[in-house]
Amino acid sequence: MEIIVNCPRCGEPFIKTKDRKICPKCFKEEEDKFGKVKDYLYSNPLASMVEVVRETGVEEKLVMRWLQDGRLIPVKKGNISYPCRNCGELISTGKFCRKCASRYYDLIQKEVGKMKQVTASVADPFASELKNEMEGMV
Ligand SMILES: [Zn+2]
Ligand SMILES: [Zn+2]
Repeated sequence: MEIIVNCPRCGEPFIKTKDRKICPKCFKEEEDKFGKVKDYLYSNPLASMVEVVRETGVEEKLVMRWLQDGRLIPVKKGNISYPCRNCGELISTGKFCRKCASRYYDLIQKEVGKMKQVTASVADPFASELKNEMEGMV
């Protein structure tokens, strides 16, 4: 059965699917914005978050989400930054700073050791999210 919902961005009704939470028009718009930011960073690898937002006109919220998801990877880390979800320290990739990530990674290692099997059984969703994060870093 098709579920028609209103797009949370523009309010237009559209058919909701598992991985489509905004309408096709807004989705396309977001993809265009992503391309813009990516191109801008490619030719301006030293740009800061403020510059990216100012020059591309794309909301910081979106840029931050792409960075957190690892979809957008800054060419040169450190110029573009946003706060670690846990402690607020400025980071430029992933969701957590290295300090928080390694602290939780230790925790996970202990957990894993205790259970003698890998992650699927790590109970804390925050911890398993971090495990994914760490795998991306190594
Ligand atoms: Zn829409
Ligand atoms: Zn942190």
